[in-house]
Amino acid sequence: MKSYDAIVAGVGSMGSAALYEFARRGRRVLGLEQFDVPNALGTYVGVTRIIRLAYSEHPKYVPLLARAYDLWRALETAAGEQLLFITGGVDAGPESSWTIQGSLRSCNEHALPHTVMSAADVNREFPGYRLPPDMMAVYQPDGGFLMSERCVVAHLNAALLSGAEIHGRERLIDWDASGGTVRVTTDRGRYEAGALVLTAGPWTPGVEPEFRRYIVAERQVLLWAQPRRPEYFEVGRFPIFNMEAPEGRYYGFPVHHVPGFKIGKYHHRHESVAAESVDRDCYPEDEAVLREGIRRYFPEADGPTLAMKVCMFANTPDEHFIIDRHPDAENVIVAAGFSGHGFKFCSVVGEILVDLATQGSTRWDIEWFRMNRFATRK
Ligand SMILES: Cc1cc2nc3c(=O)[nH]c(=O)nc-3n(C[C@H](O)[C@H](O)[C@H](O)COP(=O)(O)OP(=O)(O)OC[C@H]3O[C@@H](n4cnc5c(N)ncnc54)[C@H](O)[C@@H]3O)c2cc1C
Repeated sequence: MKSYDAIVAGVGSMGSAALYEFARRGRRVLGLEQFDVPNALGTYVGVTRIIRLAYSEHPKYVPLLARAYDLWRALETAAGEQLLFITGGVDAGPESSWTIQGSLRSCNEHALPHTVMSAADVNREFPGYRLPPDMMAVYQPDGGFLMSERCVVAHLNAALLSGAEIHGRERLIDWDASGGTVRVTTDRGRYEAGALVLTAGPWTPGVEPEFRRYIVAERQVLLWAQPRRPEYFEVGRFPIFNMEAPEGRYYGFPVHHVPGFKIGKYHHRHESVAAESVDRDCYPEDEAVLREGIRRYFPEADGPTLAMKVCMFANTPDEHFIIDRHPDAENVIVAAGFSGHGFKFCSVVGEILVDLATQGSTRWDIEWFRMNRFATRK
């Protein structure tokens, strides 16, 4: 049986970052991915992902984000490619909304530069926007987007260059841990390692059935629309946004890399799914959800639909992440349940996972990502 210092099961957003970090630290590491490496089914597809510092979800994320920005810049240097684009970020909603209050709390607790803007200010400054008068915005200049598919490729290439071994088309089926060793069974063979890192995204409940209570996959849809005024939606003129509207929370991007203004809505049509059987076709009902947001808040982007794509969230009950040891094994580390906002953190999550696997602890505060916070839930 071939032996490694560590095995990473699930070579997607988090797994590719962990592989690179293990290899960079000189560890013998094996990555196992059920599909191709990379593939069009992982949760990083759709070209781009938002990164923002004024974190409405909780101010505790801000130090992790600061580190993530630094590590993304370091990865750009390693890859010789721009992966992070700074556009500025608009958090928009009514003054009392979770988005505005959360964003302001993060800005104030961490002394982040920001500007509070009225809807009229935003619409004048960024003419692609048409916010209604009962909304306001927090503009934070460090917001932007990551080229998510390229980021995964950059982590993979850097991992391979540093000596990682990666097996595509090989699915983890089972593992067993005792005496400081984890024995892993796949559909192609058996391996052993000092540690196993599980980064299986929305497929996690398929690997760990008892986690079904904590992690639920949800179908999401992205849409790219042809702007009627393309000049309003260019990088440099259109900041990324995170908007709390009466219809739900929309997010979106300037036109970049592929044609069209890109928009999505958190919890799209509230469709919980099994990752193995998610419907990847797009329907008029999906288009209608996103068209409504474009028509109301970005009417100058309300041209024909260019493309749509299905992807999945992996939601926890409180929508905060799970980064923890497996309850049954000290040397099995789980990172999952990134609840639709994890990509921007991959670079720092990779570092945390390798800290946990190699030294048993990390300097980052991850106590609040532990699974036992759900212990009292049924
Ligand atoms: C539509 C959409 C928009 C989003 N927007 C943003 C955003 O703007 N900003 C942001 O920060 N985040 C965003 N996210 C969230 C972010 O993309 C995810 O949190 C992140 O990609 C999750 O990474 P992961 O590594 O957990 O999963 P993945 O990247 O999906 O990786 C999991 C991998 O594990 C593999 N796998 C599963 N089971 C097995 C097995 N048994 N054996 C081997 N391999 C296995 C899978 O094939 C897959 O490749 C968005 C997500 C979606 C769907």
